[in-house]
Amino acid sequence: MQTKFLRVQVALPGPFWQPLSYLVPDDSLSVATDPSLQSAWLADWLGWRVRVPFRNQTRIAVVVGVDQDDGVELSKLKPLLVKLDQEPVLNSQDLKFLRWAANYYHEPIGEVVMAALPKRLRDGEPLALPGVMTWQRSALGQSISVDQLSARAHKQRVLWQALSNDQAWSSSQLNASFSGWQPLVKRWVEQGWLAVKEGPCLAHKSLPNPVRHLLNDEQQAAVTSVQASQGFGCFLLDGVTGSGKTEVYLALIEQVLAQGKQVLVLVPEIGLTPQTAARFEAYLQQPVVALHSGLNDQERHCAWQVMRRGEASVLLGTRSALFSPFADLGLCILDEEHDLSFKQQDGFRYSARDLLIRRAHLLNIPVLLGSATPSMESLHNAQTGRYRYLRLSQRAGEAQPPHLSLLDVRGDRLQEGLSNKALGQMREALAAGGQVLVFLNRRGFAPVLLCHSCGWQGACSHCDANLTYHHASDTLKCHHCGFQQPKPKVCPACGSAHFVAMGQGTERLEQFLTIQFPEHTILRIDRDTTRLKGSLAEKVTQARDGEADILIGTQMLAKGHHFPKLTLVVMLDLDQGLFSVDFRGAERMAQLLVQVAGRAGRGTQAGRVLIQTHQPEHPTYQQLLREGYAGFAAQTLGDRQIANLPPFSFQLLVRVEALDSAQAVAFLEAIKALLLAVPVTEPCEVWGPVSAPMAKRQNRWRYQLLLQASSRASLQAWWQAVAAAVYAHPLANRVRWSLDVDPQEM
Ligand code: ADP
Ligand code: ZN
Ligand code: ZN
Repeated sequence: MQTKFLRVQVALPGPFWQPLSYLVPDDSLSVATDPSLQSAWLADWLGWRVRVPFRNQTRIAVVVGVDQDDGVELSKLKPLLVKLDQEPVLNSQDLKFLRWAANYYHEPIGEVVMAALPKRLRDGEPLALPGVMTWQRSALGQSISVDQLSARAHKQRVLWQALSNDQAWSSSQLNASFSGWQPLVKRWVEQGWLAVKEGPCLAHKSLPNPVRHLLNDEQQAAVTSVQASQGFGCFLLDGVTGSGKTEVYLALIEQVLAQGKQVLVLVPEIGLTPQTAARFEAYLQQPVVALHSGLNDQERHCAWQVMRRGEASVLLGTRSALFSPFADLGLCILDEEHDLSFKQQDGFRYSARDLLIRRAHLLNIPVLLGSATPSMESLHNAQTGRYRYLRLSQRAGEAQPPHLSLLDVRGDRLQEGLSNKALGQMREALAAGGQVLVFLNRRGFAPVLLCHSCGWQGACSHCDANLTYHHASDTLKCHHCGFQQPKPKVCPACGSAHFVAMGQGTERLEQFLTIQFPEHTILRIDRDTTRLKGSLAEKVTQARDGEADILIGTQMLAKGHHFPKLTLVVMLDLDQGLFSVDFRGAERMAQLLVQVAGRAGRGTQAGRVLIQTHQPEHPTYQQLLREGYAGFAAQTLGDRQIANLPPFSFQLLVRVEALDSAQAVAFLEAIKALLLAVPVTEPCEVWGPVSAPMAKRQNRWRYQLLLQASSRASLQAWWQAVAAAVYAHPLANRVRWSLDVDPQEM
């Protein structure tokens, strides 16, 4: 006789395309035969963490579904071990969303579900977390005055002074104010000066005084539109830099909070400096939970828990905060929607923007995207009516738009990449008491080290790339794989000791400007100077408070920061963006230009932007200067339509990396042959295999195959038709490969 059993499907990290089935230990027999019990039973399993046997181990998994035996032999199913918690960790709406994401990005469900859990929960730690670790002065510590520390140890003294206020400090609070505090705190704990305590997840803190403005007409119109949204609606807030987009977000958030609902705000990787959170807290007069890469596992767990339980109402986070659970989410906001950091570039390659919109859709709530330089995708969606378009055309308050001009340097003498005209303008701006930003999107001292005798160049032996020379460490570094070596004493090819550093990076620019402007303080902000946790926040604060006269920065400085004293921006080496192989090259360059320019003149003094160029007549520059970003975007969208490129078509990129390039190519050729054998109704095209723009990285040869179709649905269907055969191909397990749906970079 056949017996009916219920089984649960669990999501387990690993390359499993379907959830794995496990048998439920005891009560399932009676439930399976009684339909009235089934839904209650389902609720008792769906979204729960379980520990399951897997190969010879046990693993943590999440139940994502139930089914009845569908022909799989029961003897092949292993029993589920145990539920881990007293309640589910994900609700059915979250699961629906995650399943949708797994399906759309062709990512194993286990990987997607695990992306929604903090690491401690993935590792099987208990769900309940009473608090986070904090540090506070001990009784012994109370007797230590700052004067007992060495007068020269400036950093130590500042930190000890701060700890003397008898508040308990968590690591994220310390990170927000100090860089390099960890070794000091560790030593003071060892010396018994500091005591370690468990503090609550949501520490009580005093909130700054509220600062708010009366909304102008455009701001008010934007707020009213979103407010009027019944259920789901996607809004694009296209507002020039400094037009008060954040003020619009805050006004909307306040209203949603008044209805007792929660809000999720996503910002770019770099945008989440403590200033942003502080501004939100000041306006809303309540704590805002921040979720970003500067937190430790315990703090992430806390943030996750606090939102899920509804103990806090606003979550401000970077890309992955998108997956956080909420008790009652009422509004989603994504600032700087064009920003590339919203696209995960490895592993599970999702777009946080697109997933956020999907999530809002499933929850039937409004979502607001903001930018001064919207992506072509979003502008197109606004034009076709899929998004509602909201515009802030002017800077808020008294601030004037920055004045942009091109500085033609053809034939001019350049010193370390800077023209005399640019240097002269910098002198003038500094003399008038302004702050100056020199933008150069390349870190290190020089991108190439060349032997003057024989022409040898330092190249990475693992990648298809030059090694960048770093002067402070006297090393050559690969910016793609992390390889580094001391600078050779003599040329490896000819033995000459005569090297030339070619080209400029921010380190070299800093050295040069230090000599040119000895009486001014200079602050360089790039990945090299902000490696320590907390140091970016520290430097941005210094820049904002005018502690430096000259700022040197890479694109890290382009995003959202507010430097009220900044009156002049000099942009170097933007021209390379005009000649990119990627069809999005010009779009990225235009966004960078407008965003960096937007840092100038946000205070009471007007701002100027000088773009040093060898291509002053280039149509992209001309258009940006004449018609601004809107004109550029209109032209670009027209060109894309003619070329049938996104957003007028949809793409999927198959990326392959292999030690043996022949295998990579053979695998992609096999996929292409499978694709071409599928009968398709709508136009579907496949290009490649071709070498990736960086042909080799970390010793692996990289190739790609591009699929393009006129609709998302036909692209997805096309891939689905071949997916099983691709995964079953003998080379599929021999090469590293991944799918990039809606790729942002080729
Ligand atoms: P964005 O997010 O568009 O860059 P912000 O919201 O940061 O712009 O606003 C830029 C500056 O203008 C901020 O200093 C802000 O306090 C101020 N501001 C915003 N809205 C108004 C307003 N309605 N009246 C006066 N000042 C405003
Ligand atoms: Zn040589
Ligand atoms: Zn390398």
